[in-house]
Amino acid sequence: MILEMKQLFDIPGERKEFFFEITPEELKERVFSYSFASPLAVKGEAFNRAGVVYVEFSCRFVLSHICDRCLAEFEREYRYEFSHICVRDSSTNDELIVVSDNALDLNELAVSDSLLELPTKILCREDCKGMCFVCGQNLNEGECSCS
Ligand SMILES: [Zn+2]
Ligand SMILES: [Zn+2]
Repeated sequence: MILEMKQLFDIPGERKEFFFEITPEELKERVFSYSFASPLAVKGEAFNRAGVVYVEFSCRFVLSHICDRCLAEFEREYRYEFSHICVRDSSTNDELIVVSDNALDLNELAVSDSLLELPTKILCREDCKGMCFVCGQNLNEGECSCS
């Protein structure tokens, strides 16, 4: 979704709500390191408070993973909240989002925000015991007979 920002920049008190979903098929074209098992649902609003334009939204999605330690496949749901301040002109502050042509690509923002939040190590559970390097037994499901 492209958010038209002109009125948001021009009119203090202006507010726009949005809700949309990015399908797994679309996500596949942008994201190569993760596999989505659901759409990425985005819900939020943009508003001008005393001349400062904020964009706040939540993202919800399910990823299908392979555990880094035991190689089991599993799915996990993620929910994150994001808040940004938008400006029209280029800025030296990395925290600010520069919106050129009064158009903000919310799909791109939601995807890149979400990917940045994901943990670097993906485990099926925190105390995953991993797998036996000799016989390949998943040690969460029981001990193997290797010593
Ligand atoms: Zn595991
Ligand atoms: Zn074993």
